Amino acid sequence: MKARNALLAAFTLSTLAAAVQAADEVVVYSSRIDQLIKPVFDAYTEKTGVQVKFITDKEAPLIARLKAEGANTPADMLITVDAGNLWQAEQEGVLQPTKSAVIEANIPSQYRSSSDSWTGLSLRARTIFYSTERVKPEELSTYEALAEPKWEGRLCLRTSKKVYNQSLTATLIEAHGAEKTEEIVKGWVNNLATDVFADDTALLQAIDAGQCDVGITNTYYYGRLHKQQPDLKVKPFWPNQSDRGVHVNLAGAGVTKYAPHAEQARKLLEWMTTPEAQSIFAGVNQEYPANPAVEPSAEVLSWGTFKADNVPTEVAGKRQAEATMLMDRAGWQ
Ligand code: FE
Repeated sequence: MKARNALLAAFTLSTLAAAVQAADEVVVYSSRIDQLIKPVFDAYTEKTGVQVKFITDKEAPLIARLKAEGANTPADMLITVDAGNLWQAEQEGVLQPTKSAVIEANIPSQYRSSSDSWTGLSLRARTIFYSTERVKPEELSTYEALAEPKWEGRLCLRTSKKVYNQSLTATLIEAHGAEKTEEIVKGWVNNLATDVFADDTALLQAIDAGQCDVGITNTYYYGRLHKQQPDLKVKPFWPNQSDRGVHVNLAGAGVTKYAPHAEQARKLLEWMTTPEAQSIFAGVNQEYPANPAVEPSAEVLSWGTFKADNVPTEVAGKRQAEATMLMDRAGWQ
């Protein structure tokens, strides 16, 4: 946290002012880890000569900063994860619509804002992971079935404070309505093996260590852990294949409302949806490209293919407040 603050402080106003003046620059506020975004910008600069300046922070401070800076912002683009966060940025009025035939051709509509304020760039599945020692995949079927008594004392969940779980719950409400969703979520809470986890990686390690048998996490956390620990006794399962499909969320971006270089930002955003950029953007974090014409990496493909839920991802934002209250009522910490 200290290093991040120092980085922000080092990125002084004069630096920003210089960036504003140069027409062949784009300034990005990004909540993505530096190593996951820098290769994309480096490739763009090499190709076009356009410099991309970026600062990294969590999504809430970045959105607050954009609001505070208003028309004086040096930022042209906001990059963040989860449709719930992008929808929030849109509601806060810090993004502007980018109507683009290139983006429309490259990214399916369910992964974009209906007002063109943001577009998804990479996809991650939030799916079921199971212990290969204590669970047979045939025992698994749907997210909903994890509420059944057979999983009592065997389920691990991450905290409901994390937007990823709020988005998952939002799509359950969209599919089933609030009443049935609350029953499902109560069933999950009832089946918990232990306290909720602060992060997905710790949850996967808990399954591996025998603390629980099943859990729900994002696929790229599995990718990272599996790379470090090839003998991990945990595998992904693709639920709901005979109905709506696996819950998919995204990392994405939008042009800021007061972008000093809106045109340059649009060009960068368009380029990020092309096959060339999609392989880098998704590849560095073992995610799925949002452009369906682009293959995921070999490692990601080795987890198998699945049918994804095609509910518009902005439902995660629209139903976020409802989902949060429901999780609270159901006792999901
Ligand atoms: Fe994450």
